[in-house]
Amino acid sequence: MTGKTQNTETTAAGEPYPSDENSLTVGNDGPIVMHDHFLMEQMAAFNREMIPDRQPHAKGGGAFGHFEVTEDLSAYTKADFLQKGKKTEMVARFSTVAGESGSPDTWRDPRGFALKFYTEEGNFDMVGNNTPVFFVRDPMKFQHFIHSQKRRADNGLRDHDMQWDFWTQSPQSAHQVTWLMGDRGIPATWRHMNGYSSHTYMWVNADGERFWVKYHFKTDQGIKCLTQDQADEMCATDNDYHRRDLFDAIGRGDYPTWTLYVQIMPYEDAKTYRISPFDLTKVWPHEDYPLHKVGTMTLNSNPTDFHSEIEQAAFEPNNMVPGTGVSPDKMLLARTISYADAHRARLGVNYKQIPVNVPKAPVNSYTKGGAMRIQKVNDPVYAPNTKGGPQADPSAHPQDNVWDASGEMQRAAYTLRADDGDFNQANDLVNKVMDEAARERLVNNVVGHLCGGVTEPILQRAFDYWKNVDQTIGERIEKGVRDEQSKAA
Ligand code: NDP
Repeated sequence: MTGKTQNTETTAAGEPYPSDENSLTVGNDGPIVMHDHFLMEQMAAFNREMIPDRQPHAKGGGAFGHFEVTEDLSAYTKADFLQKGKKTEMVARFSTVAGESGSPDTWRDPRGFALKFYTEEGNFDMVGNNTPVFFVRDPMKFQHFIHSQKRRADNGLRDHDMQWDFWTQSPQSAHQVTWLMGDRGIPATWRHMNGYSSHTYMWVNADGERFWVKYHFKTDQGIKCLTQDQADEMCATDNDYHRRDLFDAIGRGDYPTWTLYVQIMPYEDAKTYRISPFDLTKVWPHEDYPLHKVGTMTLNSNPTDFHSEIEQAAFEPNNMVPGTGVSPDKMLLARTISYADAHRARLGVNYKQIPVNVPKAPVNSYTKGGAMRIQKVNDPVYAPNTKGGPQADPSAHPQDNVWDASGEMQRAAYTLRADDGDFNQANDLVNKVMDEAARERLVNNVVGHLCGGVTEPILQRAFDYWKNVDQTIGERIEKGVRDEQSKAA
């Protein structure tokens, strides 16, 4: 019997360590012998500690908490976790998009706002952003867009020239680029930003009536942003500023909260609404579809193992519960496939058995086998069977994810509606929402970005792009860039 205690260092198999100072050698000065499996295990585990970055949204942080419904929305959804008084445990992860896992938190970039609700009917995930829109509206463009924002093939550098080359040839990006170059392009902290589903989703009530919804998680801490200069300074002094801020705030008991509101569109309205309601580059103006309060999300518990609880958290918009569904938004439809596929590639086929991803609801699945399976499988392993295995429930999702569609198969853009121009809502943002001081900051941010290596003829296209958003703003940007060029000449 050795003196092994609860605190004795062991191998992963529980064998006590003889030393964590010295490897096993032939004599004091001789070679290390191959059967020093204590050393071997340490080296082998160390070499395999890193897993692939997410592609994109690699740099982030997160926390646990709960979501509590304060209002009665049963007229719109039967989802159990959205009924008044219901409190559901959840995990949230916030992130930048383009940077790698060690990149600065304060780069100008949209922020991911990913939520997983451990409901009694299974996990419900919302994979949102801190902006209500996105750069592209068709998933065929997504991979090209992300390539243009990350690194070049030849020198491995990020490159403003390729960013603007893509944006200016994709005018559908104008609304989101205006957002990004405005004040909200760099949040002060994750606690001081909103989260939006951006996508349109479906809700279904107990009578089977369908509604289209957009989720808005509004920060109760108030919106705060960093100027470009403040953000640049922070990049130099604290790469992990946002991750640290959330962890420290929760650690001192200053729990951040967000109030969830939804915009609700009756199912039939979508057929005739003046703006394509499923186009991810558009918002539904509040005057058309006002916000309905739902409840409050509170983050009050930090991870205790970042890797297993946050790095391996797998959010996917296909995680839905009865009373919720997706919509004909083409980006969303592609995401219902690509997120789960990304998790299988990055974490392995059984990623849903990693504790942070395990539903609190019972899992009775016929999937079996695969690498790193932890959950045991019972017979029968097929359906239908007469052996008492789990059975599908046709009443669970009768109307969710179902809508009328018709037409020849074709590769084409959404049918244009009356107010569907690429630049309309970017113009609203500049002229209806921003004041003159905010417009000046927008102009300066764009000038600074364009002066960071954008070449002709892309530069000229960028001036035209901004003149399409707003003639005066475009002229101010052009003058700002030309002035900088003369100073440098
Ligand atoms: P509203 O005046 O009703 O709403 C404007 C909204 O803009 C505000 O409620 C606020 O959203 C958001 N906002 C305020 N300052 C900024 C900023 N500096 N950068 C980005 N957003 C800001 O007008 P509409 O609903 O007609 O929308 C007009 C424009 O506002 C849209 O084109 C869009 O760019 C932007 N917007 C619209 C949203 C929507 O869902 N309708 C949501 C967010 C922005 P919040 O309260 O969510 O912070």
